[in-house]
Formats: sequence, C-alpha cells, structure tokens
Amino acid sequence: MCSRRLQVTYIMNIPQHVVVIGAGAVGASVAYFLSKKKPDLKISVVEKTGIAQAASGKSGGFLALDWCDSSDLGPIARKSFQLHEQLAKELDGASYGYRRVDAFDVTFATPETGKGLPNVAWINDKSVSYFDVIGTTNTCAQVHPFKFTNAMIDDAKKRGVKVLCGQGVKELILDDTSGQSKGVVLEDDSIIEADVVVVCMGPWSGQLPIQTTGTHIARLPISGARAHSIVMKPRFEIPPQAIFTHTLLGGKHYHPEIYPRPDSTVYVCGGPDDEPLPPSAAEVKVNVTSIDTILQLSSMASPSLLDGAEILTRQACYLPNSSDGLPLIGEYPGIPGLYVGTGHSCWGILNSPATGLMLSELILDKQIKCVPEAAVEVVSLKYRCC
Ligand SMILES: Cc1cc2nc3c(=O)[nH]c(=O)nc-3n(C[C@H](O)[C@H](O)[C@H](O)COP(=O)(O)OP(=O)(O)OC[C@H]3O[C@@H](n4cnc5c(N)ncnc54)[C@H](O)[C@@H]3O)c2cc1C
Repeated sequence: MCSRRLQVTYIMNIPQHVVVIGAGAVGASVAYFLSKKKPDLKISVVEKTGIAQAASGKSGGFLALDWCDSSDLGPIARKSFQLHEQLAKELDGASYGYRRVDAFDVTFATPETGKGLPNVAWINDKSVSYFDVIGTTNTCAQVHPFKFTNAMIDDAKKRGVKVLCGQGVKELILDDTSGQSKGVVLEDDSIIEADVVVVCMGPWSGQLPIQTTGTHIARLPISGARAHSIVMKPRFEIPPQAIFTHTLLGGKHYHPEIYPRPDSTVYVCGGPDDEPLPPSAAEVKVNVTSIDTILQLSSMASPSLLDGAEILTRQACYLPNSSDGLPLIGEYPGIPGLYVGTGHSCWGILNSPATGLMLSELILDKQIKCVPEAAVEVVSLKYRCC
C-alpha cells in the first residue's frame, strides 16, 4: 500500500512540458540531455533571435580539462570535458570541429628579444620574451561553438524537441497560490503553458523578472560584458596550437587568444569592455577600433598569419557574468518548477554539457548525481538570488 502511494506521487511529479528559454550552448545542452533521458518528454526551446546567435556562436570554443581546478568549478569542468569527448563520439565531433589541441602561454615584447618558441613555427618567435606549455592534447580540446550548439539542437530535435525562434520570453507565469512555475508569456503576448521552465538566457538572464513582491522585482544576479573577435582565413594551414598571449601595445596590456581551427580558419578574441547589454543578440554593436586592435595584436604575434589572409568575420558578443564569478545551476528557491543554467562567463562552451546533464538529472530525478555534492552546492541558487 505504502509503495503504491509513493509510486503515484512519483508519477505525478514527472514534468509534462519543459520550456527552455534560450538556444545558446547551455539551452541546447539542457534540451539534449533532457530528451536523451526521457525521449517522450514534451520539450520546447524558446529563442528570441536564432540558434547560437549570441556568445555560443561567436566564442572561441576552447576546452580544458583542469584549468578550473583551482576554483570550486573544477569537478564540473572535468565532467564537462569528459562529456565533450563522449558527445564528439556520439554526434560526429569532426562535423563541429572537435579536436584535441596543444596550448601555449606566450608573452611578446618589443624590442625583439629573440627567445624563440620551439615547435610553434607560425609565431613571431623573435619577439617572444616568455613562453610556457600550458596544455597538451591530453588536457585541451576545441569545438566550433556555433556548429557544436547546432549539432546538440539538431540531435535533440530528432527526439521531438521543438525550437521556436523569433519571439523572446517577457514574463514567467507563476501559480498565485502555490508559486509553482506554470509557463511563459512571449513578447507577442502569446502564452506557452509548462510545468517546468529553465532559464538559459546567457547575459540576458538578469533581465527577466522572476518574482514581484510589492514594488521589488527579483532578478537573477547576471550581467553581460562585451568582447570582440575575428575569424580569418590565412594563406597557410596552422597546426592545432592554441596561443594565450600577453602583449604591451601603446602602454596597455592585452591578452588576445588565438585558436586555429580544423576548417583552416583562425579565431582571435580580445578582452571585455563595458558597453551595456543591448535588448537582443541581433542588436550587439561592433566597435571598429576594438577589431583593429585585435588585428594589430594578431600581426604582432604572427606577421605571416595576416599576410594575405582573408578576414571572414568581425564580431562581438557578451560574456554572461554572475556577481560571484560562479555559474548558477539549479532550482530557483521558492519557485517549484523554475530552473536556471546561466552565468558561465568565459567557460560556457566547456561547461554547457555538464550543466545540461546536471539540470536534466535535477528535473527528472530530483537529484544531481553526475558531479560530487560539493560541486552542486557551490553552483546552486541557494543564498545567491533574491
Ligand atoms: C569572446 C568570447 C570568447 C569565449 N571563448 C570561450 C571559450 O573558448 N571556451 C568556453 O568554454 N567559453 C568561451 N566563452 C564563453 C561562452 O561563449 C559563454 O559562456 C556561453 O556561450 C554562454 O552560453 P549561454 O547559452 O549561457 O548564453 P548565450 O550564448 O548568450 O545564449 C543565450 C540565448 O538566450 C537568448 N535569449 C535572450 N533573451 C531571451 C528571451 N527573452 N527569450 C528567449 N531567448 C532569449 C539569446 O538570444 C541567446 O541565444 C567565450 C565568450 C566570449 C564573449
């Protein structure tokens, strides 16, 4: 009798419809792992612009096994690195640029000191004043983030996941009495009913009104920081060597990161600035001076890289930053059925699979088992939202 009652409660707790807000790498991973775990679950991804039109389509896509070990995020990053490898086997990783890479920390100085950088022939080794091998193919990898995010969504669609692009979510619907999440209101005022809602809106997560108490509107502690990047096609093949640079230019320190990709292109990104977050990914502005600086720094690192190279893309996107530097992954306190996966800052491509798996376990099994409990605690929303 007792076990029958428990079974009924369990069945009643199975979600009927999950709405994932945002089709970046995190939203795509949530849809992927939820649909893998429960292929008959009704899942809708609601995206304001298009799939991977924000940072998840414009970032570097560099992945590292152990570079988060010194922070509380270490176990999640390690799990996610391993999931990337697993996904690459399942989803034909070569189709989205997955491969292992070496990584170097390089400081350039003028006048040229000629220290040299062994085995990295495409770098201007005469200006290298310091270098270190900071990762190898055992610990580092990369994906093309736009193609990766689309591969995750495409696979989820095969299990019936619906992706609705073009209308953003403007409000959550909560039950007046229980406070339970009941769905979302879109910008055109249409309503999608759902007993589970997952907020994966990247830097825009902080703009969604979560709960109104009197005159106070609770929002997630998330903001955005803009960063620029370019994609170029050099005249020659560059080996799988990611370069993390330090350069002094015009009295300022810069740290551009240079990632050669298997499609014969090279991605270079610069640091963040304080341009405010626009209302949507489609309205992100590109600052020509920031792009010129990246080009100049790329040329200092490797004059031959730019010689005759075609600049394919000049772009900018926003890092999703939380107020304490850790992502928010878990259920929103006091609102049953409302979950959050956001605030991954500069490691969102790396950590998106673990985030998707963690949230799928939490939503369907009510417990995260794929990473240790201590890691679940540090990213949970408890005491971090109001
Ligand atoms: C220059 C740069 C380089 C980076 N390099 C790396 C790297 O090498 N490795 C790495 O691991 N990470 C890297 N990152 C970080 C990574 O790109 C991000 O952490 C990650 O893409 C965040 O994914 P997301 O899905 O949370 O957010 P996003 O990619 O921002 O996606 C959020 C989505 O939500 C949608 N949305 C917003 N508002 C609404 C709404 N109201 N309704 C519906 N949808 C909405 C947006 O349109 C968007 O599609 C880099 C970031 C930058 C800026």
